[in-house]
Amino acid sequence: MERLLVVEDDASIGDPLVRALRREDYEVEHVGTGEAALERLHAASFDLVVLDIGLPGIDGVEVCRRIRRDHGATAVLMLTARSSELDEVVGLDAGADDYVTKPFGLAVLTARVRALLRRRSAPDVGDSVIEVSGLRIDQASRRAWRGPRELELAPKEFDLLAALAARAGEALRRERIMSEVWDENWWGSTKTLDVHVGWLRQKLGDPPLITTVRGYGFRLERTG
Ligand code: CA
Repeated sequence: MERLLVVEDDASIGDPLVRALRREDYEVEHVGTGEAALERLHAASFDLVVLDIGLPGIDGVEVCRRIRRDHGATAVLMLTARSSELDEVVGLDAGADDYVTKPFGLAVLTARVRALLRRRSAPDVGDSVIEVSGLRIDQASRRAWRGPRELELAPKEFDLLAALAARAGEALRRERIMSEVWDENWWGSTKTLDVHVGWLRQKLGDPPLITTVRGYGFRLERTG
């Protein structure tokens, strides 16, 4: 379970935010000062900190600088009070990964949190070329080859192939693929995923590379 720390001194913002994040199944702690945030960060490790910029005592910018200095793996989503560019620039200079301007909708905020955590957990693909199982997938030019043959892929087919190939050999959950390849607002049915996997299999040709993992999702096989 991913651990989040919410640092917000205004309970009318912090409390509903914490409830919303807990509904998303994150483990969430809530503190109201920069000092308390630094204490918690020192005591435990967090995947992401939602950090208000205007805090009593040590402010959000300073907390963010110290997170960057001492807890490099922790993502920071900054909450800024005004939409002025100054706040945004200051927040980013301090090393925030993303920022949301108040007032914000809870759905927007939880979507940003999800996106940040996903980006964090995505494998580093280096120069953005994935080579596995006789495939070569160039994410910069969005071209893909199987052996010497270039594949003619529709945009979603390309994204699907890249998502599977980036973790070749691992079974990926349907929901995870859906949220990576489509977006976070897909509703319920993953039928479209089956359809695209079908098309992708046809274009990849033989021998088959994509295996259905019953009741779970799909796996791109590691070969050779
Ligand atoms: Ca505040």
